[in-house]
This record gives sequence, C-alpha cells and structure tokens, in this order.
Amino acid sequence: MSATFTLTDPSTGRGFRDMPRATASEVDAVIARAVEVQRAWAGAAPLVRADALRRFARVVEDHVEELAQLEVLNSGHPIESARWEASHVAQVLNFYAGAPERLSGQQIPVAGGLDVTFHEPYGVVGIIVPWNFPMTIASWGFAPALAAGNAVVLKPAELTPLTAVRIGELAVEAGLPEGLFAVVTGSGSVVGQRFVEHPDVRKVVFTGSTEVGVEVAAGCARGLKPVTLELGGKSANIVFDDADLEKAAAAAPGAVFDNAGQDCCARSRILVQRSVYDRFLELLEPAVRDWRVGEPTLETTQMGPLISAAHRDTVAGFLDGADVAFRGTAPEGDGFWFAPAVVLAEPGDRIAQDEIFGPVVAVLPFDDEEDGIRLANDTVYGLAGSIWTENLGRAMRVSRAVKSGVLSVNSHSSVRYWTPFGGMKASGLGRELGPDAAEHFTETKNVFFATDAS
Ligand code: NAP
Ligand code: MG
Repeated sequence: MSATFTLTDPSTGRGFRDMPRATASEVDAVIARAVEVQRAWAGAAPLVRADALRRFARVVEDHVEELAQLEVLNSGHPIESARWEASHVAQVLNFYAGAPERLSGQQIPVAGGLDVTFHEPYGVVGIIVPWNFPMTIASWGFAPALAAGNAVVLKPAELTPLTAVRIGELAVEAGLPEGLFAVVTGSGSVVGQRFVEHPDVRKVVFTGSTEVGVEVAAGCARGLKPVTLELGGKSANIVFDDADLEKAAAAAPGAVFDNAGQDCCARSRILVQRSVYDRFLELLEPAVRDWRVGEPTLETTQMGPLISAAHRDTVAGFLDGADVAFRGTAPEGDGFWFAPAVVLAEPGDRIAQDEIFGPVVAVLPFDDEEDGIRLANDTVYGLAGSIWTENLGRAMRVSRAVKSGVLSVNSHSSVRYWTPFGGMKASGLGRELGPDAAEHFTETKNVFFATDAS
C-alpha cells in the first residue's frame, strides 16, 4: 500500500491532493497519547468539559463556510447541503456540551450504608465513518463521547477526509487538549482495523456497510469491547390511497435522491397502494424531472455527482435489465454524474432488495394495509421509513408494525440530533444521538459505602 492516497473532486473527476496513510505503529502512537490526555479530561470538573465543548461548537460555527466548501470539493455535496451539515456539527457539539453536568448516577436504598452509581467513561473511543456524510456522522460519535469524558480517535473514509481533518484542527484551536480528539487518515484495513484490535480502544463506533460492520463487530467481540453499528438500509416510503398524493409525490424525490441517494436513510423503495399506483406515478414523474442535478457550487443545485467512478459503475449496474419508468437529468462531463432513475420492480428483484446507495428508486404496488406492512418488512434492513396516510389509526398501526429504527409519518425526516437514531435487523446495533447518547459512552460503576462501624 502506498504512503499516500489521492483525493478526487467528484464533479470533475480530477485528483487534487494527496493525503497521508497512517501505519499501524503511527495509530498506536496516537492511541497512546489519547490514553494519557483522557485521564485529565475525565478528571476535569463537568463545567470545564462543558465549556470546552461550547467553545469547540462556536469555533466550528465560525468555520461553517470553510467546512462547507471543503465538502463541496471533496464529496461533491451541493453547497447548501454542505452548509447545513457543517452547522449541524456545531449544533451537535452544543447539544452534548449540556451533557457533562447531567450524567447523574443513582442512589439505591441499601441497609448499612450508601449505594451509588457512577457513569464512568470508557477511556479511548474509536470512531470509523463512511464517505457519504463525512462531517455529520463523525460528530454523532465524537461529541457525546467527549462529553462523557472519553478521548476520541476518528478515522474518516479515505475518499473524504478533509472536513474531519479540519474539525480536528478546530478542536485544538478551540482549546481542547492536543490528542484528546485525534483524526487519523488512512485505510480501513490498517487504521480502522487497528482501532478494533488495540486493547486501549475500549469502545468502537462504526458507520458503514453491513459487510464491514459484521467484521468490525466480530473483532470487537474478540477484544470484549462494545460496538455501535450504523449500517445500510433499504427504507420504504409507504403511500396509502388515503394519503395527500400531491404532497407525497412532491416529497418523494428528495427522500431518495438527496445526496445522490448516498444516504443510509434513503427511501429507496416506494410502496404504493394499487388503487392509486398509476395516479402516484403520474405525479411523481414531473417531480423527478424537476429535481435539479448539477454543479455542487451552485446554491440552486439539489443533487451533485456520485462519489467515485467505481461507485457510479456499481449504481449503473443496477439498471441492467431493469424496467426504468422514467429518469431525471444530469450534466454531461467528466464528473461522476448519474441521472436519477425510477424503476418498476417486483418484491424479489435485486433492485427491490439490495442497497444501491445511488439515485435509483424502486416502485412497487401493494394491496392493503397488511400487504403494505409485509412488503415494507421484506428486506434484511430496518433503518428508516415513511408512512403517508391521512388516517391516524392507520399511521399508528403501521408505524408500530414496520421494523425500522426511525420512522416518519407524512414527512421524510430522519435525523434530529436530539432524537435517537439507528437501525434494526441488518441496519445496525445500538442508537446514536438523542437525550441518552452521552450515557452510551460510559459504563456504570456501582459503589457501596458502609456506614456501620466494624
Ligand atoms: P464501508 O466500506 O463499510 O466503510 C466504512 C468505513 O469503514 C470506512 O472508513 C472504511 O475505510 C472503514 N473500513 C473498511 N474496512 C475496514 C475494516 N476491515 N476494519 C475497520 N474499518 C474498515 O462503507 P462505505 O462504502 O464507506 O459507506 C457506505 C455504506 O455505509 C452504506 O452501506 C451505507 O448504508 C452505510 N451507512 C450507514 C449509515 C447509518 O447511519 N446507518 C450512515 C452512512 C452510511 P476506507 O473506506 O477508508 O478504507
Ligand atoms: Mg467501501
């Protein structure tokens, strides 16, 4: 493996910078430093950690534009999306800056003394993130982990390290101790693997493919370390015949084509009740044609290119032999462009089962509520989903019956940093975000103090 990796601008296909690849012994040195710095961090007063994270949030806020521009260059995200992502990082930091003083334990009644529990930090937490949302996903791990008194070592995806590296520098500018939050660039098989194997990394947070996630979990099992997994998805957008069809159709492209479909929560299956199937497709077609694919630097752009040439080939492969109903548009040129595609599918088709991670949506009809639920649950995944209906009872029944971690009714929202996020089945293990995330980066210690003189 060469010592550097060349980054490519996905909208032009041109390489623009070489990034260093850390070796296993370099990773070990970073972890050793993190072990040392963590002790003082965990021992600091809660207010000291809270203030440090608030300063970190403010410095990120002051660099939203710079971070957004880096993401446009490195990942091809539309500028408005990238600005949202960078602001989100500041908000996540701000939210978990409120955690240090709130990590209360319990006092449990016992005879002959006092029994109390403490939320002890793990020590060093290893965070491994994918290329699709480089900044936001990293922050979901590092902000609560730091708040709970841990040190963090973060491995960005090799394709998209720039914003993570910059956020690592901003942490130091904000006054966090050097080495407390360390960003290490390099390959998954070296840096990521070392996080999993190293005995001083006491918890691992992995976001990525189900395939690699299973290996990471197996490695963590050997070291007896807890692991949080945020994996793939094949989420259903279920449209009932009593839905506001105009609204449902208008919202459907954004729910699957946002970030060029490179979104673990993408509603990549649209399940439509048979009685409104034709009408829904009629409404969907203009919405897809109007979806604005283009130059990511423009504020009017809704979707940029795919991340790489190899990924574009994989996505294109899904259209071989598929029944494509209609497509949106995409620019010509050397970038990794791909026009959104709407495909008519049968439940067993590969296109209805596998995560494509591109702007391709499978549309399938269903007969009634029971059939809709069955079809929604008919994949190995269970991350997100949407339910469109004007019937409140149905909304409640279906939202309880769909086996997914994150659902929305008459909306496609998935991520609010103050609500829990994560998947069921092959979509993951554990939850991120929400009110309890900092506690997930601690283990409970129980201490009994005897009051009886002996
Ligand atoms: P991936 O190939 O699984 O890689 C994810 C990360 O793991 C990368 O940083 C990768 O490093 C690293 N890695 C690879 N092999 C490793 C190993 N043996 N040990 C430790 N780390 C290793 O996933 P991807 O292709 O980047 O991302 C796409 C997938 O992520 C999709 O399936 C998507 O659904 C999923 N995803 C899920 C969520 C969620 O929250 N549920 C969010 C976003 C994405 P390098 O690539 O740098 O070598
Ligand atoms: Mg990969």
